[in-house]
Amino acid sequence: MADCIFCKIVKKEIPSEVLYEDEEVLAFKDINPVAPVHVLVIPKKHLISVNDLVDQDVSLIGNIFIVIKKLAAQLGIAESGFRVVTNTGPDSGQVVGHLHFHLIGGKSLGVKIG
Ligand code: 5GP
Ligand code: ZN
Repeated sequence: MADCIFCKIVKKEIPSEVLYEDEEVLAFKDINPVAPVHVLVIPKKHLISVNDLVDQDVSLIGNIFIVIKKLAAQLGIAESGFRVVTNTGPDSGQVVGHLHFHLIGGKSLGVKIG
């Protein structure tokens, strides 16, 4: 999508601090971190949200979670713990309309998720 900010990050038209990249997945630091570790893991192809997923995306989503697992280990939060968040639609507060998974950790996050 031409005017999608994360598609522009995928195309390197907007700079970001990339932590992982392969053919279908990109991971980069969130510009406004809420914790010492705050990474966004996204599919390179433009999907708006979980609502856009189809059966053929099973391996993509599986691969994204393997990337999340490996990043958590590399960033030293596998044992201390972390949270993975995917906002979907208005009630979630989703701001960027390109599917993304927040990987958040490095401090105690508390129990509140809603
Ligand atoms: P959402 O609320 O849509 O789940 O989260 C969007 C996230 O994208 C926010 O945490 C925000 O800080 C991050 N973000 C928005 N624009 C940019 C950007 O241009 N670069 C980076 N690295 N992160 C961004
Ligand atoms: Zn996009």
